[in-house]
Amino acid sequence: MLPIATTRPELLSACAAVLVNPDDERYKQLHGKTAITPLYNKSVPIIPHYEARIEFGTGVVMVCSYGDYTDVRLFRELELEPINAIGPDGKMTDIAGPYKGLDVAEAQNAILKDLKEKNLVLKQETTIHRTPTCWRSQNPIEFIAMPEYYLKQLPYIDDLRNVVDQIKFFPQKNKQILVDWINSVSRDWPISRRRYYGTEVPLWYCKKCHETIVPPPGSYYQPWKTPPPIDKCPKCGAINQFEGETRTLDTWMDSSISSLITTFYTKDDEFFRQNFPASIRPQGKDIVRTWLYYSLLRIYQLFEAPAFKFVWISGHGLNEKGEAMSKSRGNTIDPNPIIDKYGADAFRLWGALEASLGSDFRFNEDRLAGTYRFLTKLWNISRFISSFPQPTDQQLTLQPADQWILSELNQLITRAKVGYEKLDFIIPARELRIFTWDVFASHYLELVKGRAYNKQDDPSRTAAWHTLHTVLQAILKLLAPICPYIADKIHRELYDPKKSIHISLFPEPVKEIPGEHPTDLLINFNTDIWKHKKEEKMSLRAALPSVTAPYALKPYAEDLKQMHNIEQLSFHSKDNTEISPHK
Ligand SMILES: [Zn+2]
Repeated sequence: MLPIATTRPELLSACAAVLVNPDDERYKQLHGKTAITPLYNKSVPIIPHYEARIEFGTGVVMVCSYGDYTDVRLFRELELEPINAIGPDGKMTDIAGPYKGLDVAEAQNAILKDLKEKNLVLKQETTIHRTPTCWRSQNPIEFIAMPEYYLKQLPYIDDLRNVVDQIKFFPQKNKQILVDWINSVSRDWPISRRRYYGTEVPLWYCKKCHETIVPPPGSYYQPWKTPPPIDKCPKCGAINQFEGETRTLDTWMDSSISSLITTFYTKDDEFFRQNFPASIRPQGKDIVRTWLYYSLLRIYQLFEAPAFKFVWISGHGLNEKGEAMSKSRGNTIDPNPIIDKYGADAFRLWGALEASLGSDFRFNEDRLAGTYRFLTKLWNISRFISSFPQPTDQQLTLQPADQWILSELNQLITRAKVGYEKLDFIIPARELRIFTWDVFASHYLELVKGRAYNKQDDPSRTAAWHTLHTVLQAILKLLAPICPYIADKIHRELYDPKKSIHISLFPEPVKEIPGEHPTDLLINFNTDIWKHKKEEKMSLRAALPSVTAPYALKPYAEDLKQMHNIEQLSFHSKDNTEISPHK
């Protein structure tokens, strides 16, 4: 008598082997012998295997098809023939003998009763153990062996490792998610599914000789409702004796060829030749093991090439509480009313600003409202600038303030470019927001208003108009990848109604602009004046009789006087940086 602890006595009829630990002294004499199953009197081999743990239960394990995923693995590993004791309807099959037709739970009670009657139950206890359940319905899952179509993947694993090394990952660290998955693949890919929603498996079978009929490529087939494109079986000659496949394909079987769709495979040979492999796959990290992995597998099998040059892997979007969102948990946020309220570009900009590449980000409506306000500000800035013509003069008399903002713009372009090259959109998004709102709008626009509104034609007015338009055009082009619609809309309204901003070049730094400017001093000076006027309950346009400014601001004297309505602006000596608006 070999005592076995099991949580699935109803699977006794599907027992195919018994395992003992090779080092377990109690059972060493049984290695290679057979055991007889109770009630069914079936002879099964006793196999020494480390899956049986000496300290667990009685140290003896019953391998049945299938109590759990370990059983599935052991049946494969030990090449045991699966026995289906449970049918697809969830009821016990003929194999179960007297328990045929019972539900799994009913069969468990019945077999336990019979074993007890025969005095075969040594001990019964309540345990806590894991059972697989459906992620959607939470119903228990039974593993039932069924013939399915598989796509070979094990023979391609080494090649896929090479393919992965030919691709550049953004961020680089997320490459490891894919590498770890490839290293863990241990079986081929089951691609046929017994569910309704999906792409049909395009096959028919001859009812007479069971020949499989594969239709020619190029059309979409629905074998469950339409006949095959032939009427005579090519093998046995039977006429119209076909049965259509009713199964569908695994969803990743379709989506894994999306890089062929985007490069017009079979639709435009020239375009495909020029654009395959596709440049980039943008996706979330939760589907690296599926969408990314299967795309690389399928494209390698078809073309012996990587599917993409670059792979961009973002983090998870979480809800306000920082939870992963799922339909079954009911904690998802519907993006549509939010996009209706704030606009898709504000949503995109929020997404870009929320996290560095690869990090998870949390939904926050207040912050989204902040990006909406920023885009409203950009719209207002554009409307203001649109009231001035864009000069065509080649010779410009740029004033120090113009040179200052163009120098700031040059730095913005350089920093944004670094971010875009890393595909880390938080960098250009942040730099653009700070420059546009906190520097360009708050300070430069105020500084040049006097010159820009000058009624007289003056070279300094032309320089102001030129600078305003130069900076705005650069902002729009830098923003276009993140806020494609608003950037294009403003650009068409102001600059070129016929040409999309998205086919223009990335802005280059403005040439021959001195790099050194006292930006902080300038900003602090303006801020202090505004603060002073506020404290004194003065209007911002009210005149100040006399102000002393830091020496370094001397070049901006004319613009500063107009901006703050200063009657007499004097400057400290070189080493005194104090601001004194009222002597
Ligand atoms: Zn046939």
